[in-house]
Amino acid sequence: MRTLYREFISAILLILGISMLIGFVLANMVYVVFTKDEMTQQNLEVAEQIVHVLENMHMVDHAVQPFLQSIGQLGYQIYFVDPSGGGTTFGQSFEQSSLPRQTLERVLQGDRYMGKEGTWDQFWMMGHFSNDIRNTIGLPVRIDNEPHALFVKPDSQILFSDIHMMLAGFIVAIALVSVLGVIMMAKRLTHPISELSEATKAITNEDFTYALNISRQDEIGQLAGNFLNMQQQLMHNDIARKSFINNVSHDFQSPLMNIQGYADLLLSTSLNEKERLQYAGIVNDEARRLSNLTKQLLLITSLDQSGYPVKKSPVRLDLQIKESIKKHQWSLQDRNLTISYKLDEAVLFSDRELLAIVWDNLITNAIKYNQPNGHVFITCSIESDMIRLAFQDTGVGLSEESAEQVFERFYRVDTTRKKDGTGLGLSIVKEVVTLLNGTISLKSELGKGTTFTVMFPQEGNDN
Ligand code: ADP
Repeated sequence: MRTLYREFISAILLILGISMLIGFVLANMVYVVFTKDEMTQQNLEVAEQIVHVLENMHMVDHAVQPFLQSIGQLGYQIYFVDPSGGGTTFGQSFEQSSLPRQTLERVLQGDRYMGKEGTWDQFWMMGHFSNDIRNTIGLPVRIDNEPHALFVKPDSQILFSDIHMMLAGFIVAIALVSVLGVIMMAKRLTHPISELSEATKAITNEDFTYALNISRQDEIGQLAGNFLNMQQQLMHNDIARKSFINNVSHDFQSPLMNIQGYADLLLSTSLNEKERLQYAGIVNDEARRLSNLTKQLLLITSLDQSGYPVKKSPVRLDLQIKESIKKHQWSLQDRNLTISYKLDEAVLFSDRELLAIVWDNLITNAIKYNQPNGHVFITCSIESDMIRLAFQDTGVGLSEESAEQVFERFYRVDTTRKKDGTGLGLSIVKEVVTLLNGTISLKSELGKGTTFTVMFPQEGNDN
């Protein structure tokens, strides 16, 4: 597999290689264009000085050699040719020491030789520094009226002195350290990515416990932080999903078992009329409960899908609540409860059907969890740009702990558990109110009663 680590290293090495090449070509160009001529000129001047001394100081033959030897010791390589064409080297010897015969003759005859000028080598920096006799400057010399030739170049070994070697070592060391640094840096960068990849695999296998060991302050650290948040959210969702399925299965199971049991009893022939009616009534109640549960589940599923189609229109809340009260008239009488209300005229630009679900649930609960001969009081008022709706009952009330949980799905207070209910009503109410830009809160006292308060912003509620 092509790993990010390998790709990173190869890319950096390639960049390093290319930059060295470009650097070398540029240095070569700078040398050839600016420096080379200057150096050649300097060498020419030195050669002319030597020739001047040789020609004008009236040197006797045996003094020429020691003079050239001392020049050789001063850091020059010299090839001195006598009229017969025989040559002697002074100073450091040449690695490449053969000059073409024609060159020798031309200089003996009075021409100048300017090194590798005119060949392709002149464009190659390193060619100028090689220990080659062809890099010399050749000048004719007349001693005692005899033609001689002098070839001179600075000693390359001195040119590449210890300091130069140290510099070269320095560059090599820098290159080595940078390569090592790049390798370590690449590892540091790619290691957390591999770890994140492992953690992602674990999540695919529904394992939300993979412990990421990344503590950094940079973007990768941020990514790891976001990943941990996502992991926790997914774990939370997974737990919620499993408990939802568990609750749904359980809530379907018990009415279905009741229906099955009482249906079996109904099939037996030994029942009297009263028993038959009682059992049929239970089957009917359980079927209604199942139907109610299914409707609530369908509503929850569609509310869960983001982008629930809210159909807004102006709704007279006071009238809508009165209608809902009318629908519950029968169950109020059945339980011997009284109801009163004070509903100010209030128009809300909102979803009529969803609002009806909210009022219906709150009134049903106020009746269902009331005490015998209890009372229900409903108000609708406008308070500084807010529409406030309160549903107050004199019912069983809620403990502080239960009050905190009533809006959770499937939550039912133990004491009221036996009563007909699914534990979904208030969670739906909360989701709907939030979807319609409102808020819901409650105040309750055990044994005394509960008040649910719904608030909607009156202005700007049309967005
Ligand atoms: P359900 O009524 O179907 O059980 P809800 O979500 O409507 O489900 O209510 C959740 C629980 O909150 C109820 O089981 C009940 O115990 C409690 N509750 C709701 N409304 C009231 C109320 N007005 N007074 C006391 N307890 C209530």
